[in-house]
Amino acid sequence: MKIIKTVRDMQDFSESLRLRGKRIAFVPTMGYLHNGHLELMKEGKKLADCLITSIYVNPTQFGPDEDLDKYPRDFEGDERLSRNVGVDVIFYPANSQMYPENYHTYVTVENITDNLCGLSRPCFFRGVTTICAKLFNIVKPHVTIFGRKDFQQLVVIKRMVTDLNMDIEVVGMPTVREPDGLAMSSRNAYLKEDERESALSLSRSLKYAAELYERGERDAGVIIKEVKDFIEKHPGTRIDYAKICDVETMKDVERLDGRSVLALAVWVGTPRLIDNYVFGENK
Ligand code: AMP
Repeated sequence: MKIIKTVRDMQDFSESLRLRGKRIAFVPTMGYLHNGHLELMKEGKKLADCLITSIYVNPTQFGPDEDLDKYPRDFEGDERLSRNVGVDVIFYPANSQMYPENYHTYVTVENITDNLCGLSRPCFFRGVTTICAKLFNIVKPHVTIFGRKDFQQLVVIKRMVTDLNMDIEVVGMPTVREPDGLAMSSRNAYLKEDERESALSLSRSLKYAAELYERGERDAGVIIKEVKDFIEKHPGTRIDYAKICDVETMKDVERLDGRSVLALAVWVGTPRLIDNYVFGENK
């Protein structure tokens, strides 16, 4: 497994693979890897000849009061886990490589970034689409794999790739969970012991919403109220949003008659956790 730290070396390496007719799969991450990341990597392994991952905590997607400095990091652990799943290259750039002095270019996707995480974290998607566009130009993948845990992010990346005619296949993978249902996240590392129990309110409320749907409930307002009441019963929780949206437009829906997603963002103690459920799909 190679570790590449400069943009030039990464581009040269990928170009040489392409010239030899090799197919490149790419999994971008912010590190502190867990099984959610590793499942994306295992899928990448199946889809290409060479699996490249990036580990980069991207400063432009964090707001001024967010957890950029405290974001958990463990490069040695990440290296070991990556090697175990057969990653061929880790791209591990410094900020000076990604945002050198005089950096002025940003990519924004409109409309579908106005709701949910885009509403509560105004810098977030501009940062995500900018870094992904840059990474795609550096790593030159044929296929890239993202998790559906970050549902809106996946929709936004697919939109960007389509709208900017990037010749890349975007694959979405199911959310990987702890045995008790908690969606895996690097930010779970911040949870104190008592908060861990409250954090289960996200996945459990999604399950409850799925049951309401199975019983025939189609009024989004009713489901959202039940979900909020459920979560708020758990100590230390503070809801950022609980919304039901159309899976393509990301606009709120009143009735669940098309394909809809219930998306949650909840602070549990310090970390803000997200999770989602697409109605009518088994999870
Ligand atoms: P992050 O390092 O949090 O930026 O995540 C990198 C990639 O891993 C993104 O495509 C995420 O959607 C994906 N990911 C994070 N957590 C999970 C999970 N529990 N299950 C599946 N994919 C995940």
